[in-house]
Amino acid sequence: MTIFEKIARREIPAQIVFDDENVTAFRDANPQGPVHVLIVPKRVIPRLAEAAETDAELLGRLLLVARTLANQLGISQSGYRVVINNGPDAGETVPHLHVHLLGKRSLGWPPG
Ligand code: AMP
Repeated sequence: MTIFEKIARREIPAQIVFDDENVTAFRDANPQGPVHVLIVPKRVIPRLAEAAETDAELLGRLLLVARTLANQLGISQSGYRVVINNGPDAGETVPHLHVHLLGKRSLGWPPG
């Protein structure tokens, strides 16, 4: 079981900010800004590269939850970034698809 499945099952603690039948979102344990939330499907897709056509609705839900949380956390107007790290070059460390929502600070581009 992935660490994010354990968080979704409340088996290990996290600051959960959103939870429904299909998606959990919680504060990143090592935040890279004042707002850093991870949005995670409860059903494990290891990474975007392994997503299927049949995952289209779930993938869309992740972005809509990011939008909703950005509103709730007050960064819709100031701006924010959503990030998916896929594989070694992107620095993926947890093999359970997750969308990072980052904001409340100015974010550099291009990313490192
Ligand atoms: P990634 O590098 O895209 O795979 O991102 C994994 C993220 O998960 C990192 O930003 C970590 O800080 C975060 N993370 C790892 N373990 C936990 C945890 N137990 N609770 C919250 N965030 C975590």
